[in-house]
Amino acid sequence: MKTQVIPANHPNVAQKAAEIIQSGDVVAIPTETVYGLAANGLSEDAVSRIFEVKGRPSDNPLILHICDATQIDLYCHDVPQSAYRLAQLFWPGPLTMVLPAKDTVPKRTTGGLSTVALRCPDSEIARQIIQLSGVPLAAPSANISGKPSTTTAEHVLHDHGGKIPLIVDGGACRVGVESTIVDLTEERPRLLRPGGITPEQLMAVLGDLVVDKAVTAQIDKDAVVKAPGMKYRHYAPTEPVIIVAGEREKAAAYIHRHFEPGDRVLCFEEELPLYADCNPLSYGKEADVSTLSAGLFAALRELDDGSIGKVYARCPVGGGVAYAVQNRLKKAAAFHIVDAEVAQ
Ligand code: AMP
Ligand code: MG
Repeated sequence: MKTQVIPANHPNVAQKAAEIIQSGDVVAIPTETVYGLAANGLSEDAVSRIFEVKGRPSDNPLILHICDATQIDLYCHDVPQSAYRLAQLFWPGPLTMVLPAKDTVPKRTTGGLSTVALRCPDSEIARQIIQLSGVPLAAPSANISGKPSTTTAEHVLHDHGGKIPLIVDGGACRVGVESTIVDLTEERPRLLRPGGITPEQLMAVLGDLVVDKAVTAQIDKDAVVKAPGMKYRHYAPTEPVIIVAGEREKAAAYIHRHFEPGDRVLCFEEELPLYADCNPLSYGKEADVSTLSAGLFAALRELDDGSIGKVYARCPVGGGVAYAVQNRLKKAAAFHIVDAEVAQ
C-alpha cells in the first residue's frame, strides 16, 4: 500500500481522511499531544485494524476522541459534575477523562472494561476530521507499540509507511507528550497518566487527586492495574536509558566517570557545553519545560538507532508539565535512576 502524506492545510484533506475512516480503515492524524492512529471507535472491525497496525496488545484500551463536550453523554452514564467542569475548563485540550461507558461503546475499544476514556483534542484539523467522520475516533499514539510516541508526520511514516493509506501532516506537535488521564469512576479522582494538563490544575478543580502508582513506579507484569496498558513497557528506545539526577556539575562528573565509547548523553540545551566530548543530544531548554515535553520523543527516537550503548539522561525537576516529562523519561529508563549527589 502506498502511504500518502498530505499537509493539514491542504483543501479537502479532512474530507479525504473522514472518507477513509468511514470505510473502516485507519488514518494518522495530528493532535496537540502526539500523532494518533485514528479509526471509527464504534466499529469493532475498525478498532481491530488499529491494534493490528500498531501491534498493540488487545487488552490495552483506547481513548475515544470527540469533537465537543456535549457528546460526553452519548458514550457515558452516571457522569459526575466534576467531569463537566473539567471539560468546560480544559477542553478542547490535552485531558482525557475515564468515565462509566454506555453500551454504545464496543468492548474492543475499552479493552473489555466497563469504563471508557474520552478526550476532545485542541487540534482544529483533528476536530474537523472527527466531525466529518460523524463518529468518535479511537486514536492511540501512532507509534509501533512500545516505541516512543510519534510527534511528526515523518515519525509516523517511519513506523507505518506502507501499512496505512494516509498521514495528515500538521507539523510538530505542540505539547509533545500524550494527554493527562484522570479516572473519575472511583470515590476519589485518580491520575493515571500526567500530561499537558498538570496535577496542580486538576487539584484546583477537583480539590482531591490520588496519583496512581503506575505513574511513579515500575508496575510488575502480574500486578492488577486499572487498565492493562499501564504495565506495558513504554516509550523505550532499544538502548538502556539511565537517568542521572542531581545538581548540574555533579551529574556531569558522574556521567564523565562512567561514559564509554558509543554511549550518548540526552541533556538540556543549557548543558550541551558540559558534554562536548560525550556526543550529547539536547531535547529542549531546562528553563522552558514546554520545549522539553515537545522535544522528548523526537530525541528518544533519534537515539533509537540500534547502534549505540547506554543513554545517560538529564530530567527536569518540579511539578507542572515537568511532572509529565519525568514520567515519560522514567518509563523509558524503566525507572533506572542514579542520584549523582551520592553515587560514585
Ligand atoms: P494511548 O496510549 O494514548 O492510546 O492511551 C491509552 C491509555 O489510556 C491506555 O493505555 C490506558 O492507560 C488509558 N485508558 C484508556 N481507556 C481506559 C479506561 N477505560 N480505563 C482506564 N484507563 C484507560
Ligand atoms: Mg501510546
